[in-house]
Amino acid sequence: MLKRIDLARDYEKHKDEYLKAIEECCKVTAFSGGPFADKFDKEFKEYLGAEFVQGVNNGTSAIHCALAVLGIGKGDEVIVPANTYIASAWGVTYTGATPVFVDCTADTWEIDASQIESRITERTKAILGVHLYGQPFDFAAVKKIADKYNLYVVEDCAQAHGAKFEGKMVGTLGELGCFSFYPGKNLYAFGEGGAVSTNNAEYDKYINVMKNQGCNVRYYHEMIGYNYRLEGLQGAVLSVSLKYLPEWTKRRIEIGHKYIENINNSLVTLQYHPDNTEPVFHLFEIEVEGDPEKFLEYMKEKDIECNRHYPVPCHLQEAYADLGYKKGDCPNAEYLAEHCVTLPLFPEMTEEEIEKVIDAVNGYRI
Ligand SMILES: *Cc1c(COP(=O)(O)O)cnc(C)c1O
Repeated sequence: MLKRIDLARDYEKHKDEYLKAIEECCKVTAFSGGPFADKFDKEFKEYLGAEFVQGVNNGTSAIHCALAVLGIGKGDEVIVPANTYIASAWGVTYTGATPVFVDCTADTWEIDASQIESRITERTKAILGVHLYGQPFDFAAVKKIADKYNLYVVEDCAQAHGAKFEGKMVGTLGELGCFSFYPGKNLYAFGEGGAVSTNNAEYDKYINVMKNQGCNVRYYHEMIGYNYRLEGLQGAVLSVSLKYLPEWTKRRIEIGHKYIENINNSLVTLQYHPDNTEPVFHLFEIEVEGDPEKFLEYMKEKDIECNRHYPVPCHLQEAYADLGYKKGDCPNAEYLAEHCVTLPLFPEMTEEEIEKVIDAVNGYRI
């Protein structure tokens, strides 16, 4: 069975390097924060071309930190796309603020900037844009509205390490960028990990204290803090994988383009990638007519594992029932949720496997 994503292939290929890095960290027992975590922060900052990076314990915490440092809290509202992984919205909820969900466009499947304005109130403080599936959202359009209403723009880059909008790295466009290194993300740790990027020294300082139990000097707590530090072992592993990220990204783009050029089935719609963006194909999502579960079954019979991102849009999740959204509020996100399927895509896929996926998709009938 061809897996949707097969991390074991990377481990087998670079095992010696990973284990050496882990051993070095163990030797000096630098397990929580410390030199290996700091080294990764520095390397990732250089990779992004950002002024500052704070490693944290996961991507959800990264979003929480990024919104908290902007002073967002109870009584405030933050615009979030309805089509995203739920953790984008958790980051808002953790601050005490309320997520306000906006539909995606019918073709890019990213936040529809033209619908943001109608959702802005006097409580709105920020727009949390998400570069979903590795595809940058229309930052220019979002920024234009943000500037008009004096709102912050924060980027959720959890699925888009290395993607570019108008030639610029995501994570350096907005006030702050939030990254996840969850296993399976384009850059991943051997466990949980995340980071916040910014060009603002004050934000960086605040997050460094916030993630570290609220102290700069040990045992002197200047604010209510969190235990959001990046583990040393994850920093050590991430320093190894970051070296391979450019190579992995190149391969993801190659595979993405092979799919785009060769998938040809009137039942299948692909994501639209605007010319001013350089997507990094975290998830290769397709829209399939009819029941997506039937498509998953069909692919399984062909020995290909697929899955779905995401079957329920944020505004219809049970956890947010009290916000009062209903079916029909975000029709594009809802249609996508009912028809989306994720094809296998990871850097170690062979040419044969890529062709096998294309042939199977092209042969699908209902
Ligand atoms: C993975 C992900 C997150 C959360 O990251 P974790 O490291 O799993 O906490 C947030 N937003 C998006 C879009 C993600 O895909």
